[in-house]
Amino acid sequence: MKNNVIKNITNKTLGILGGGQLGKMIAIEASRLGIKTCIFDPNKNSPAFQNANIIINSDYTNKKALRQFVKCSDKITYEFENIPLESLNFLEKNSQIFPGIKALKYSQDRLLEKEFISNLGISVAPFYQIKNYVDVKGALEKLKGTAILKTRKFGYDGKGQHTIKRYRIPNIKNNIEKNKYIIEGIIKFKKEISVIVVIKKDGSAICYEPSENKHINGILRETAFPAKISIKTKNKAKAIAVKLARSLNIIGIIAIEMFVDKSNEIIVNEVAPRPHNSGHWTMDACNVSQFEALVRVIFDMPIPNIKYYHNCKMINILGENYNVLEKSLYKKNHKVYIYGKDKIKEDRKLGHINILF
Ligand code: AMP
Repeated sequence: MKNNVIKNITNKTLGILGGGQLGKMIAIEASRLGIKTCIFDPNKNSPAFQNANIIINSDYTNKKALRQFVKCSDKITYEFENIPLESLNFLEKNSQIFPGIKALKYSQDRLLEKEFISNLGISVAPFYQIKNYVDVKGALEKLKGTAILKTRKFGYDGKGQHTIKRYRIPNIKNNIEKNKYIIEGIIKFKKEISVIVVIKKDGSAICYEPSENKHINGILRETAFPAKISIKTKNKAKAIAVKLARSLNIIGIIAIEMFVDKSNEIIVNEVAPRPHNSGHWTMDACNVSQFEALVRVIFDMPIPNIKYYHNCKMINILGENYNVLEKSLYKKNHKVYIYGKDKIKEDRKLGHINILF
């Protein structure tokens, strides 16, 4: 049995769509397990290229490049969700994509995502489709004047979002005509948490314990592990996460971001069918990180029970607090990760620190 596992990974290459920090951390774990990587990204300065065996620097729609990618890769995964579905369909016909593309269809579009989740009987924030400016007014009436307007697609780290208070609609009439939006009621949450679920090829699920997130202006700043919520709430969150992962046909990994309200009800905010920023604590606080778990599922390697060694506070380092990284290098319980991005910019994620307790 053991020999077969090792034979499975001999001379194997994992294709990764997207060359950001998540791709880089997947590549590092793959390499540690003897697996090469072929990384596809349109940006020639992608951080993950520093750790790739093969680089494909092309637009995601370039068929010739996609063909080359399939040829180089034994299996494919993605670290970036906004890959055109047409390209994914092409790749799926010619290779195996993990954790599958059903989940991407939903995670790429907030309206489809919210409809899918609520159809499963799982709570989400009240939401309305916005097709034009008049729809905003109608939805605001229902939401008593306070809401968040979000682009359906391509929004990340709070981009494309507008908080509306006291019926004051931002001056974005032209954007609304051009883009597709949804509007959401604001959840008065007690905590934000995430749950990371790994589904193996035999259908069995491994669920990491929930962690607790702090966002500012829509950007994740800190994650604390473990989340300070009751065991009952943890179990509820984990059951919802596994149900969602299974309904989205995940084989690999998915992160589910949730709100916990004052009555300890769970409201799902978002799903991300890939390793997630709020799971970086798994790199140092337990025996198998989210990146390693994904690689192990893809290449049929066993995953031992998750064993937690430390409590952890993960701090994201954005362009404006880059100097914190240097201070952390002197601290004995700080694990420092520097992504190697080409430019330091405000609000851009440049690294993170896992502080272990
Ligand atoms: P999102 O891009 O949807 O993940 O939103 C980023 C962050 O904005 C979330 O993690 C929350 O902190 C906040 N947020 C988004 N939607 C809502 C909502 N409906 N109610 C309250 N806070 C929200």
